Amino acid sequence: MTARYIFVTGGVVSSLGKGIAAASLGALLLAHGYRVRIRKLDPYLNVDPGTMSPYQHGEVYVTDDGAETDLDLGHYERFTGVAGRRGDNITTGKIYSEVIARERRGDYLGATIQVIPHVTDAIKEFITHDAGAHDFIIAEIGGTVGDIEGLPFLEAIRQLGHELGNAGTLFVHLTYVPYIAAAGELKTKPTQHSVKELLSHGIQPGILVCRSEKDLPADARAKIALFCNIRREGVIGARDLQTIYAAPLVFQEQGFDREVLRHFGLPHEKPADMTRWQNLVSRQLSHKRTVTVGIVGKYTSMVDSYKSLAEALTHAGIENEADVKLKWIDAALFEKESGASLLQNVDAVLVPGGFGERGTQGKINAIRYARENKIPYFGICFGMQMAVIEFARHVLGLEGASSTEFGPCAHQLIGLLTEWERAGKREYRNRQSDLGGTMRLGAYQAQLVAGSKVRAIYDAEVISERHRHRYEVNAAYRGQLEAAGLLFSGLSPDGKLPEIVELKDHPWFIGVQFHPELKSKPLVPHPLFVSFIKAALR
Ligand code: GLN
Repeated sequence: MTARYIFVTGGVVSSLGKGIAAASLGALLLAHGYRVRIRKLDPYLNVDPGTMSPYQHGEVYVTDDGAETDLDLGHYERFTGVAGRRGDNITTGKIYSEVIARERRGDYLGATIQVIPHVTDAIKEFITHDAGAHDFIIAEIGGTVGDIEGLPFLEAIRQLGHELGNAGTLFVHLTYVPYIAAAGELKTKPTQHSVKELLSHGIQPGILVCRSEKDLPADARAKIALFCNIRREGVIGARDLQTIYAAPLVFQEQGFDREVLRHFGLPHEKPADMTRWQNLVSRQLSHKRTVTVGIVGKYTSMVDSYKSLAEALTHAGIENEADVKLKWIDAALFEKESGASLLQNVDAVLVPGGFGERGTQGKINAIRYARENKIPYFGICFGMQMAVIEFARHVLGLEGASSTEFGPCAHQLIGLLTEWERAGKREYRNRQSDLGGTMRLGAYQAQLVAGSKVRAIYDAEVISERHRHRYEVNAAYRGQLEAAGLLFSGLSPDGKLPEIVELKDHPWFIGVQFHPELKSKPLVPHPLFVSFIKAALR
């Protein structure tokens, strides 16, 4: 069977949840027994989002094979369990780098290089590469229809639609149906305009997913179907939900998967078994307890910066039958106010990944408070590095303990990672290296020390977790730190790189150099987060 392509575009406004819609459709098709891969096409000019500020673009999601990708790949992986790869996220920047490199090599044999066909061909190659082993490739196009940057992408998918026909392609368009309170009505006009815009690029959608605050009534559905030239069954209502994990269930109820399968001439009468999702959602909505985690960071004004983290905590809450409330606390506040007042109603503290010196003193103060007052503490990447500095300063009494990320210091507890092993090859970096794509990225194994807390939590000796960092804990201080009670409980297989630290005399104080949140899924919550929330509930 050759792969079928489902293209997902968006219109009217951004932030409608195209990623969740694509991911939910993926989950449904998987439940029907199909092999699915989801790809994201981002029209912006950055080569990847790795160098973008999380303020602007939200989290950078890292894949096992070390690509820095759009956060939608996180949704895909959480909903489908299929690990994303480098080749699943493309940007205009990457496409152009590729086309220009080919031109420089002389691959185009003297041709004038143009958007059509050269750029569009490169986009088509990306969409269709390695598709063989899949029944469906879902390709989400970032941005909204009509954006200048998006035009070559629309042209490329139009061409694929033309080449492969209805039997091989389907266009799904996500729109917004606003509720106008004064009129007491849902308005379909913006949807009609959005489809018209898409038609002007030669694309007739086969399915419309209509986001709205309220249920889409039958008459609105009929009207949209008629004016947009779509079967009534192809107009899918997508009302606001209490939890995003109910999306696959609502889409099933609305017949989204049925309509997709029907389009491709596949059996579609028998509903997919979604029992696991039903159980998940009912557990999430019927929690018995509540727990509050204080997240001390710098990007607290934009929750999307910590998307996977928030999801991983939610998954752990569902597993513990508790509602996890997140309290985002600006690290800078800890420089003036006491931990006692800021963490008053907080059951556990987490310092997530981060870059740069600003806010670090506040993070260190917050960690100190959690350590001394035996409040569960989880340090992720930067949060681990800051925990080590805090311990060195206040327990070992090394006042000048710091990270070389912030400049020279007396005690380099955290230093630049200049050399490490990846898949049998050595990687080298120095201060002059580029910033984009040069960190220690992707999946690496770690060996867990027998008798440690993490060994019991993972119930495994060797683990694999995803990394994204440029600095590391300086193993030269291991002896001193361990003698004072901070155990190095996880190390790289060659024993050189500290991967996990944990405090002996503390109910739950663990710092990890990797990003466990990237691998947590609603149906398979991450053991570290589950254990952390359990400790917070105690
Ligand atoms: N800034 C730190 C480093 O580069 C931590 C990075 C992170 O938290 N992802 O090592």
